[in-house]
Amino acid sequence: MPQFASLQPDILLPRDITTWEWLFEHPTYSPLHRYPQNELGGFTDAISKERLSYLQVKEAATHLSTALVKNYGLQEGETVSLFSANTIWYPVAMHATLRVGGKVSGASPAYNVEEMSYALQKADARFLMTHRDSMEVAIRSAEKAGVKREHIFLLEGELEGFKSVRTLIEEGRGFGEQGQVEYFRIPEGKTNFEVCGFLSFSSGTTGLPKAVMIAHQNVIAQCLQVMQITPSDHKRVLAVLPSFHITGLVHVLHLPLLINAEVYFLPAFTMEAMLNTVVEYRIPELLLVPPIVIRMIRDPIVDNYDLSFLKRFSSGAAPMSDEVLQLLQKKFPNTGFKQGYGMTESCSCITAHPPWFYDYKYAHTVGTVCASTTVKILKEDGSEAGIGEPGEICAKGPQVVMGYLNNESATKETFDEEGYLHTGDQGSIDAEGVITILDRIKELIKVRGIGVAPAELEDLLLGHPAIEDVAVLGIPDDYSGEVPKAYVVVKPGQTPSQELGREVLRYVRENKVRYKAVKEVEFCEAVPKSASGKILRRVLRAQMREGRRGV
Ligand code: AMP
Repeated sequence: MPQFASLQPDILLPRDITTWEWLFEHPTYSPLHRYPQNELGGFTDAISKERLSYLQVKEAATHLSTALVKNYGLQEGETVSLFSANTIWYPVAMHATLRVGGKVSGASPAYNVEEMSYALQKADARFLMTHRDSMEVAIRSAEKAGVKREHIFLLEGELEGFKSVRTLIEEGRGFGEQGQVEYFRIPEGKTNFEVCGFLSFSSGTTGLPKAVMIAHQNVIAQCLQVMQITPSDHKRVLAVLPSFHITGLVHVLHLPLLINAEVYFLPAFTMEAMLNTVVEYRIPELLLVPPIVIRMIRDPIVDNYDLSFLKRFSSGAAPMSDEVLQLLQKKFPNTGFKQGYGMTESCSCITAHPPWFYDYKYAHTVGTVCASTTVKILKEDGSEAGIGEPGEICAKGPQVVMGYLNNESATKETFDEEGYLHTGDQGSIDAEGVITILDRIKELIKVRGIGVAPAELEDLLLGHPAIEDVAVLGIPDDYSGEVPKAYVVVKPGQTPSQELGREVLRYVRENKVRYKAVKEVEFCEAVPKSASGKILRRVLRAQMREGRRGV
């Protein structure tokens, strides 16, 4: 059977330790044991210049976890939700939770009350850490989801009536060295694949966003897989990707510790702030998502900077068009290009470009299969594709996650009995072992690299008084990659009109975070559906290709 194993040597995977033990305690892996104190990397706020070395992260996380357990009752297996923009306190809160066997669940800082309370409920969160600016949403969502007010803490800033992480760290310090809570260890008889450390959100191949159970082993394996193909100059890491997304979780909050790199956080993204940071710290590799790559080509501000030291661009989370790649190479002829392909359910990368494929001639591909990973490509008839034949990419490896929390049916649908994750992406592999993504078969819409579930917008729109039925699809967009478009059937007595179209756009804008906004509405007689009531998205897509225009 043509299953395609990685061409890289297997990783040596520790199976009996947590991410905490691995990064902060382990004599072989932890940077704290491998580097002298004055050479340790850390997390730096690129704007305020506040910095926490990895030793300081360890100390702060130890005190914070002690306070959380002793003063607030955090128990093993409980979830702490992190609802915040990027800050150097994010990794402290994350590693503190993991240290005592808790689970970390990241949420977009732009979520509204509905979205945030859904995320809290789905992740069974008991604690919530947030930024002062998100506090109003945090309080209302916590109330709806049953998270106690005294379990809401501030990651950044100060606000009366709420304790900050810094205060908790002092509370923890107060217990002294003897009073510190011991770090959690993988229970005897279990492996680190059986202990969940993270709950990230993804809608997978269909339906509403689900909490993806990511094991300690998944993150350790993925970091080792990526480290194997990380060049030695990757010592200064730009953190513009959101920490709540799997790419940030792995490539910004974990991998840099393993390779003892310095991470530069941008609390709020602007091109100017990013470019200033890149130049100030001479960051050789820029980890970006496609919309920011596009701005690197088009935004005139880029021309104000001497970026001749740039070695390469790194992208992921969504496809890059050939046109953009060509323009990028033209504008930065001395750079290379790499990307990773995968999903939350594969704890980031299934494939990535190894250094020998950084040439732009491979940029339209997603590189080769990661170490210790096997890919099979399934044709429509269920048989396995050979070299050059397109089909659904399925992957098996130590980075493939445990499943969805409290959702056995979705887990069974997505992870087959042999342990393969069915990605819902169509691709092919060539004789060199290089994979190309050709299409997306699943329902997902990727807006600026962030997943939007059509089912979530359809659910919302079905609640609109003028809408009888609706289907949402992604349509191409120059800047965002894709944006949602709604196909709307109006209720009897309602008349499709420009005004109603605009009202539908407004309705979504008012009820969902900005990146989920529907950009176009098209009225239709009926939504094409199968006998079982499933939306026939391919039929809709075909209609779209015929060029019908919306409002
Ligand atoms: P997420 O779970 O948010 O990471 O979304 C995963 C999905 O994003 C994948 O299943 C793909 O559809 C898409 N994706 C991720 N990386 C790439 C890439 N390098 N090229 C094309 N699509 C990608």
